[in-house]
Amino acid sequence: MPGPLTSDERERVLQDVAASGLLRSPLRPDGTGGILAGDLVGRVTVGGREARVGIMLEARFPLALPRLLLYPWDAFGHIPHVDPVDEESGVGLICYQDSEGIILDRRRPAALAIEALRRGLDLLADGASGRNRADFAEEWEAHWARAGGDSVRCVVDPPGRVTDLAVVTWRGGTAGEPVEVRYLAERASDLPGYDKSLSGEGLPTRRALYVPLAAGATPSPPPPLGPFWTAEEVCAFMGASLPGGRLSHVKKRARRMRRRTTQETELVVFSLPRPSGGATLFGVEFAGVQADHPLFGGRCSGVRPVQVLRRDCAYLVPRGGADDALSRKRALVVGCGAVGGHIAVQLARAGVLDLTLVDPDVLREENVYRHVLGKTYCGYKKVIGLNVHIERELPYTTVDAVGENVLDAVASGRVVLADYDLVVVALGSPTVELDLNERLWSEKHGPPTVFTWVEPYGIGGHALLVRPGERGCFECLYTPPAPSAAPLSNRAAFAGPPPPGRSYGKALSGCGSLFTPYGSADALQTALLAVRLGVRALTGVEGESPLLSWQGDPSAFEEAGFSVTARHRRSAAGLEEQRCAYVSSRCPICGVEP
Ligand SMILES: [Zn+2]
Repeated sequence: MPGPLTSDERERVLQDVAASGLLRSPLRPDGTGGILAGDLVGRVTVGGREARVGIMLEARFPLALPRLLLYPWDAFGHIPHVDPVDEESGVGLICYQDSEGIILDRRRPAALAIEALRRGLDLLADGASGRNRADFAEEWEAHWARAGGDSVRCVVDPPGRVTDLAVVTWRGGTAGEPVEVRYLAERASDLPGYDKSLSGEGLPTRRALYVPLAAGATPSPPPPLGPFWTAEEVCAFMGASLPGGRLSHVKKRARRMRRRTTQETELVVFSLPRPSGGATLFGVEFAGVQADHPLFGGRCSGVRPVQVLRRDCAYLVPRGGADDALSRKRALVVGCGAVGGHIAVQLARAGVLDLTLVDPDVLREENVYRHVLGKTYCGYKKVIGLNVHIERELPYTTVDAVGENVLDAVASGRVVLADYDLVVVALGSPTVELDLNERLWSEKHGPPTVFTWVEPYGIGGHALLVRPGERGCFECLYTPPAPSAAPLSNRAAFAGPPPPGRSYGKALSGCGSLFTPYGSADALQTALLAVRLGVRALTGVEGESPLLSWQGDPSAFEEAGFSVTARHRRSAAGLEEQRCAYVSSRCPICGVEP
């Protein structure tokens, strides 16, 4: 297996790079007097201008890409992908490849080094000619971060128009270690939407000018070395980056803001569209402002950069791999035990931010090994624990906790089934589930509903999507195939009927403590099946009303003296093929019995 190179091997790689002809008059600096460090240094000419480029093989090479250096760093101007290493040396680092997803052919180290050098030189050519100028806008966040300064957290979806936003200052911590956080929002009352523990009321608030820049604007970031922009430079930058006609809007808004305030600092937040989509937010703060806004002739004593950290829903949700399109959907989860608890959390993590949870049960210590909530929440109703857990951990979520039996909640009108975009039922109680199925069908356009349950001893789990008005429902599973057949056993089941006098439940201390044995992984796997199906229903990807099942190892179940059904022994492909075969034409709810 190839590892780090021997010194002979490194030598050969460097000789091959030198022989490639990419660098003129290549030489091996001895490291004593050279201005440009590197294992091999040579001259390049780009766009008529000359500079020196060095290649450096790190100790881990070829497991790590070689470093490419440019001297002087601004030989071709301030161009994308070249950053000065420090203030003194004048050396720049050429960022020729972001390493994510790149597989290095470590068995051909010389070819790798030559390819790296070629890519670096291409970047210099693109930079010198201005071809990759848009890359500044693409990587603006990184450039701005280098400018430093205070930060403000944006908790509002960035508007598409010129406006002013609230800058709300929250102070906490201790006297010895005070903490100050600034939030950018429409208004102070937006803060609890981001974090339920924050109350915007009574917090010091001022206004910041918000200016969206033109799509396709390709400004240059502030120089990486040397002083930050002056007020004049900020004005010039803005003037060159605004869409036609917008300057008068900005001016009007800025004037209006200054008429209402005598504040001595003015924060301006810009939104710069990225060529690849989305936008980068960044701020400039003027200090010592007198009279007019410093963008329009007012005097100020200084300008500093401000980092705007995007914490808004439209950014955070997709950034975390969730679906922004789901963020305005409402879901009802009925039953918040081992399966339902995971469903509630996973739905929120998928981006369904508005949840109603229904369950009257209190979390007991006996539950904690297979419930998504741990010991911290024992003694509380499961819905209360989930409410706190989800709202605390996931920004922008709203959890309505209904700590009562679902039939009572529906009867009292506390829960109205038709108000939701998705219902997930994880009660593990077929009688109530059959009743809910019938109620959902009585709604003209009832929401898509996933019924889900886990089998004993980890032999599997199921998720059934029911779409009221379309064939296939929970009652179908309990509809006997012929009028004379015995009713009321679930035809999806993997567990065969228990021997006479026995049940799947295990009693630890008498019949009061009967529980169904299955593990946390079984509950989670079932929950994931149900959540994926529910999300497919919400996004319209699922066009059928399928019964989906996962099959687990039956050995523990069989050792306990039980047997699995023929359905459990089918292949996974067979089950998938028969995903809608459960639909019964004799079903009293959805059937079309002539
Ligand atoms: Zn049916």
